[in-house]
Amino acid sequence: MNNSEASSSTDPLLEVDVVAVRFGGITALDGVSFDAPRGTIVGLIGPNGAGKTTLFNCLSRLYIPNSGDIRFDGRSILSKTPHEMVNMGVGRTFQNLALFSTMSVLDNIMVGAHSRSSSGFLSNALWLPWVQSEDARVRENAWELIKYLDLMDVAYATVGDLPFGTQKRVELGRALASKPKLLLLDEPAGGLNHDEVEDLGRMIRQIRDDRGVTILLVEHHMSLVMSVSDTVVVVNFGRKIGEGTPQEVQQNPEVIRAYLGEEE
Ligand code: ATP
Repeated sequence: MNNSEASSSTDPLLEVDVVAVRFGGITALDGVSFDAPRGTIVGLIGPNGAGKTTLFNCLSRLYIPNSGDIRFDGRSILSKTPHEMVNMGVGRTFQNLALFSTMSVLDNIMVGAHSRSSSGFLSNALWLPWVQSEDARVRENAWELIKYLDLMDVAYATVGDLPFGTQKRVELGRALASKPKLLLLDEPAGGLNHDEVEDLGRMIRQIRDDRGVTILLVEHHMSLVMSVSDTVVVVNFGRKIGEGTPQEVQQNPEVIRAYLGEEE
């Protein structure tokens, strides 16, 4: 599609187009293509070292593909900075939490919204009226998310003092505060117990349904991926080896072979 054309609401939100990434002699991604249709949850799975994190890092512009293209809302993102990606509507969480552990839950979530704010250093320093009204909007949005994610009881608590599962919800809140159209979740179930994973699954589906957010989920927790994803993309050794509904990929012989001996 021509980048100057407006994207239609039926076009996929994200298009990964024959992306290849090499590190010296290692081919981490070898011509991977798939789409994420708007308002859907796409699971991205594959054995260790398959290339999932590399793809995530390309999507948040931490890595530059050697070839191929990635389009978001119809436009190539390859010339964008990581900060521009947030402004365009791409939010993410990290495998290892990336929160400010000495700050409160409220402040951490507000930081997420400020990462998208348009006020400059000088107008902030002078505390101009429009900066004040933006701050009020950011605060109101943060409280809405705190209620949405059931964090009211801990809103003023220091993040580092909270249980890991609660910290993960704070990270989700921080990513949602930038009002993303696309949310990249990097192994959100890591370190969670059974009940917490069930809650997380409900929350991921709610975020899609209530907010219309498109979600790309990298996860090793198979029952979570299979229960929440609309489609699943499977990579192995940098190549896409399967794509389809959870039922389809679970019956795909190549996927079964790749996972043989990988899962308990
Ligand atoms: P895991 O499930 O274990 O997180 P993954 O599917 O996310 O694995 P990647 O981390 O993307 O896999 O790694 C894909 C391949 O690229 C691996 O062989 C890895 O060693 C290599 N790789 C990833 N990042 C780098 C880097 N910065 N420098 C060199 N090699 C890298």
